Amino acid sequence: MRVASQERAEWQLRAACRGPHASVFFPPPYVEKRDEKRRRELRAKDICADCSVQSDCLQYALDIGEQHGIWGGLNEIERRDLLLRMTRA
Ligand code: SF4
Repeated sequence: MRVASQERAEWQLRAACRGPHASVFFPPPYVEKRDEKRRRELRAKDICADCSVQSDCLQYALDIGEQHGIWGGLNEIERRDLLLRMTRA
């Protein structure tokens, strides 16, 4: 994960996705089938659900406009939809 400030570095140290299962948070280097993507994302979201820094992570991804992967329990499409809802509110 990219680190833009000391504060962000601190929350990233407490990320539940650190370690060997980090690969489920991003697509593989080949075209992923729809069911495969859904299962991978569900595994990642299960980890996010128990993560103590979920809100920091989601805000970070929204702030930098992250285009790929699961951040804060949302995939790129869900984050884009959230940003749209926030701008319309
Ligand atoms: S919310 Fe999910 S992606 Fe973000 S740090 Fe926690 S486990 Fe990782």
